[in-house]
Parts: sequence; C-alpha cells; structure tokens
Amino acid sequence: MSTETVEITCIACPVGCDVSIDVEDGEIQSIEGNTCPRGAEYAKEEYRNPTRILPTTARVTGGVLPRVPVKSAQPMPKPKLEDAMVEIAAVEVEAPVELGDVIVENVCDTGVDIVATRDLPAAEDGPKAVE
Ligand code: SF4
Repeated sequence: MSTETVEITCIACPVGCDVSIDVEDGEIQSIEGNTCPRGAEYAKEEYRNPTRILPTTARVTGGVLPRVPVKSAQPMPKPKLEDAMVEIAAVEVEAPVELGDVIVENVCDTGVDIVATRDLPAAEDGPKAVE
C-alpha cells in the first residue's frame, strides 16, 4: 500500500487556499484546507488531470513584428505542454495574421488548437497601429 499527501494551491479564486490531498494507492481518501466546495473540485481535477492554458509566441514571416503571441484555445494536459512548445517552435506563419487564426491545429494530438491572440499585419501594409 502506498500513501502520499499532495499539496496544491487552489487557484479557483484569488484567495489561493493551500489544499492537501491524502492519496492511498492512487485513490483520493480526503481533501483538507479548502474553504469552499470549489476548492475540493479543483484539487481533484488538478491531481487527476492537471491542465493549463499555454501562452507563448510563434514565428512570423513578412510581418511588422517577427513573432505573434499565441495561446491554446482551451486548457491542455500539463504533461503535453513541453512537447507543444516544441511543435509551436517549428512553425512559421506568414503575415498577415488575424486574432483567432489557428496557428497549430490539434497540437500534439490533444484536440486543442493554438490560436493567435492579436492581429499582426504584413510589413508592406504600412505603419498600422497594432495592439
Ligand atoms: S478553496 Fe474556495 S475559497 Fe479557497 S481558493 Fe479555492 S475557490 Fe477560493
């Protein structure tokens, strides 16, 4: 029989409670430290299937800037984040890029797309205001 206590900071709200999960043979036995039910749900999910939104940048050719900020359209499995970064690093998109454009489809077979989080005009489009 293996037992462990996993410490997690709940980020479901700004309070940031420290939550402890007691686990026996991979099964959650008890959860303590959360001050509301959302914390227990967050801790269970974080233990069983941690996910994160991945924010990064992708290379652009012919744009007013060399890179465009991108993010995963949904939270993706935490163990896949590093591989996703490698896949995104290998991509080069051509300007113009529009907010919401899919930069990588189904990154690392996660079912999650990587999308642009801003417009990036082509260089020949002239000095447009970019935000
Ligand atoms: S347990 Fe509840 S109060 Fe504490 S951080 Fe999570 S959501 Fe906020």
